[in-house]
Amino acid sequence: MKKIFVTRPYFPPKEDYKSYIDQIWDVQQLTNHGPLHNELEKEIKSYLCVENFHFVTNGTLALQIALRALDVTSGEVITTPFSYVATVSSILWERCTPVFVDINPKTFCIDVDKIEAAITDNTKAIMGVHVFGYPCAVEGIEALAKKYNLKVIYDGAHAFGCRYKEKSLLDYGDIAISSFHATKVFHTIEGGGMISRGAEMKRKIGLLRSFGHIGDEHFELGINAKSSEMQAAMGLCNLKKFEEIVAARRKICELYDEILPMEKIQRPEMPENLEYNYGYYPVAFKDEVACLKVMDVLNQNNIFPRRYFYPSLNTLPYVEQVACPISDSLSKRILCLPLYHDLEEETVRQIAALISEALGAA
Ligand SMILES: *Cc1c(COP(=O)(O)O)cnc(C)c1O
Repeated sequence: MKKIFVTRPYFPPKEDYKSYIDQIWDVQQLTNHGPLHNELEKEIKSYLCVENFHFVTNGTLALQIALRALDVTSGEVITTPFSYVATVSSILWERCTPVFVDINPKTFCIDVDKIEAAITDNTKAIMGVHVFGYPCAVEGIEALAKKYNLKVIYDGAHAFGCRYKEKSLLDYGDIAISSFHATKVFHTIEGGGMISRGAEMKRKIGLLRSFGHIGDEHFELGINAKSSEMQAAMGLCNLKKFEEIVAARRKICELYDEILPMEKIQRPEMPENLEYNYGYYPVAFKDEVACLKVMDVLNQNNIFPRRYFYPSLNTLPYVEQVACPISDSLSKRILCLPLYHDLEEETVRQIAALISEALGAA
């Protein structure tokens, strides 16, 4: 029997990819900001309507470079415990101290009302995550950042294609990053993007991602976060299909909405001004027992949802462990259901029926 996973990477038409590969062979340039890389940057910048866009190796390096670009190289960074590990590992890797602030039980994003109490003389930045593509309280966070002179970085790994209040969700904060990993809604196999403002930031990020030098002139300490022509080619193919992919995912989400036993499931609250990318379909259950039961029943039927996000990051063995009861509770009882462009309606119906059965709601 076919195994159904939480996601399945999108494969563009092979002919389209091949035509880009032919171009690469013609030009004979594989990396170091080749023509396809530059074309992808231009197209994404115009698709998102943002001032600066940098295509980089992956979302994790994008977070690390964002901290460096904003001179956050020591001190405390306020962040959320409910995310993928890369959010906190990037802070630690840059030798900063993550300070966890619990999440809002409705949006699953960092609770803006709890941030101020966590600010100290040592706080340098706030790193929020638009988890599952749902926006953080961007206005409240901006007001706090102004008041306390803090930088704001958004981990928008899930937010590509989300629009909030008439602009890209990635156009909030000093720098926002996204991930273009193969499992994400838009991908370049491996890859990431950085969105920033101003000529100075553009110059700085450009240098940081490319060893800190231009030609023989060295300006500052950099790293290698350049991407290749092969990956840019995948991005160019996928960008053309992006609206189609989102529309297909939307249909699947709407079917889940219609047939899941909603009285036994909690979903994140959809804000009014959000145009969603349908990147994830998270469902939270009453408790961990119910969650594991659903998982078990689905697994027995060759269906493999994922525990996104588990464990809560404040419980990692290499962080200072603090209590975040809302995130602790949510991460123990939440699953992301299978969701991808060509997931079949019949499978969605089967998943919903199995969940109803597991919860005794059939
Ligand atoms: C996927 C992901 C990342 C890391 O992105 P990569 O491109 O895999 O390095 C960071 N944060 C979150 C929330 C993610 O889901």
